[in-house]
Amino acid sequence: MSDNKLERIKCLIIGSGPAGYTAAIYASRADLKPIMYTGMEPGGQLTTTTEVDNFPGYPEGIDGPTMMMQLQKQAERFGTEVRIGMVTEVEFSKEVGGIHKACIDNSTWVEAETVIISTGATAKYLGLPSEQRLRGGGVSACAVCDGFFYKNQEVAIVGGGDTAAEEATYLANICSKVTMLVRKDEMRASKAMQHRVTNTKNIDLRYNSQVDEVLGEQVVEGLRILNNVTGEKEEINITGLFIAIGHKPNTEVFKGQLDMHEDGYLITQGKSTKTNLPGVFASGDVQDKEYRQAVTAAGTGCMAALDAERYLAAIESKEEVSA
Ligand SMILES: Cc1cc2nc3c(=O)[nH]c(=O)nc-3n(C[C@H](O)[C@H](O)[C@H](O)COP(=O)(O)OP(=O)(O)OC[C@H]3O[C@@H](n4cnc5c(N)ncnc54)[C@H](O)[C@@H]3O)c2cc1C
Repeated sequence: MSDNKLERIKCLIIGSGPAGYTAAIYASRADLKPIMYTGMEPGGQLTTTTEVDNFPGYPEGIDGPTMMMQLQKQAERFGTEVRIGMVTEVEFSKEVGGIHKACIDNSTWVEAETVIISTGATAKYLGLPSEQRLRGGGVSACAVCDGFFYKNQEVAIVGGGDTAAEEATYLANICSKVTMLVRKDEMRASKAMQHRVTNTKNIDLRYNSQVDEVLGEQVVEGLRILNNVTGEKEEINITGLFIAIGHKPNTEVFKGQLDMHEDGYLITQGKSTKTNLPGVFASGDVQDKEYRQAVTAAGTGCMAALDAERYLAAIESKEEVSA
């Protein structure tokens, strides 16, 4: 770390999704002069979707990239500096009032009094070429986000865990039929969730089944299913395919420094966004495996900025700061 590359700031925001931008709006209006690093996906997950219909304030809906550009403009209006760059290493202080360090793109170090982590969680996909080609054209990793677009239509869902079971029953309320593909001969989901699935009439549950190919050129028109025991293949007509095989929180870089759940989600204290380290806060999907929505991410982004502002104010007035 060479001295001429050090920069000391009040508030570093890592990640540029709805959580990061909302934190930026609040932090810049509180005069924390935040600097945001966007990461590899400027604008976050919503830039991969065409239609956002459920974010309050857009009666006609809005496309994801436009919404994220508007959030960026709003944050910049109050003085947030948005920089392209990836945080590749961190050295967080354990002391109240300590200085946290973050390395950008393996070269430049930034020192910050507070850090807001909003690095999100990445949905896992199967990796089939036909699935990747049709992402946004009927293949989705979020039933709550996109299920409504398939009202009264036939869809399929892949996965056998609690989230898949929950999303299958959610879709069954909206869609005429849900074919659920479980790769093994049993589901990983809890017994209660399994019951919910098997008790829902319009869910066609198929064990030992996996996607062979998603059919359609521009949009999903069907699915070829492979029975991995018999080797038989079958084609069904669907208009939407939901992948529910899990998410990976983007927390690799914080390993060993911040407390995490077994699956990598950051642990925050009670109803706050405080991590185990003073001055380091977490907001959005990176600390929320339950809801994972833009509006909830934005809500916790607001909380993180308020927590950061209060933390700095308490230090300045020499109040006792809870870690
Ligand atoms: C296809 C799809 C459609 C969706 N549709 C909807 C919808 O209609 N309505 C809805 O409410 N929700 C929707 N969601 C969910 C919604 O996108 C997420 O809940 C929301 O984006 C989470 O916001 P976030 O700010 O926590 O993280 P993200 O949006 O995931 O953003 C994370 C940010 O962190 C950055 N980052 C990661 N690692 C680093 C690093 N090391 N250094 C710097 N930056 C880093 C990334 O580049 C990115 O900018 C959808 C999700 C998907 C995948």
